[in-house]
Amino acid sequence: MNYSGKYTKLERELLMQRVQMQMSEKRFRHVLGVEETAIALAGKYGASLEKASIAALTHDYAKERSDDEFQLVIRRDQFDLDLLHWGNEIWHGLVGANFVQRELEIDDEEILQAIRVHTTGAAEMSLLDKIIYVADYIEPGRKFPGVEKAREIALINLDDAVAYETKHTLAHLVEKEVPIYPKTIETYNKWVAKK
Ligand code: GDP
Ligand code: FE
Ligand code: FE
Ligand code: FE
Repeated sequence: MNYSGKYTKLERELLMQRVQMQMSEKRFRHVLGVEETAIALAGKYGASLEKASIAALTHDYAKERSDDEFQLVIRRDQFDLDLLHWGNEIWHGLVGANFVQRELEIDDEEILQAIRVHTTGAAEMSLLDKIIYVADYIEPGRKFPGVEKAREIALINLDDAVAYETKHTLAHLVEKEVPIYPKTIETYNKWVAKK
């Protein structure tokens, strides 16, 4: 894909290189899988293919940064200090968008927001938010029970795919007895819970 230059000064190949430098080969393959899936979903559901590509390539940009660096940025850039009680799972998207903005000079709010909510989802999600959230879950490299079903649903109805992913992610977190981030509960209440 050729980028327009509206959202990043970098060509796609250069953006890919900048992302690749930040992570393991395995995680980079995941990122490329998310990009492929996000572009397909954007085509199907009528979102910008370019924004889908950029958001997908950058969604896990900060995932391999140290806890120390995240804690420093949370304090320095006036994030809610409650975030300090959480960890990389929650930080790498929500705070990671800040690294993407500063280091890759991507300022498009829609792209940054899709990065912020890609892990937990949100009660209110834009089309691009949903595409990145779902693509992250169903990209070709993902292998877990239920992923085939998630892929099928994503081809039929994107909101249903958001609901399916949210329900199964929450069930998985409960099974592991890990702390549930409040935003994850908000996503569940909006997209899964029966009124
Ligand atoms: P990845 O970065 O491509 O591996 O995928 P995600 O960004 O979607 O998720 C990162 C990790 O965060 C996964 O292991 C999720 O299960 C986990 N996660 C998602 N929501 C929550 C939450 O509310 N609490 C905790 N503790 N972990 C979560
Ligand atoms: Fe992630
Ligand atoms: Fe995800
Ligand atoms: Fe990811």
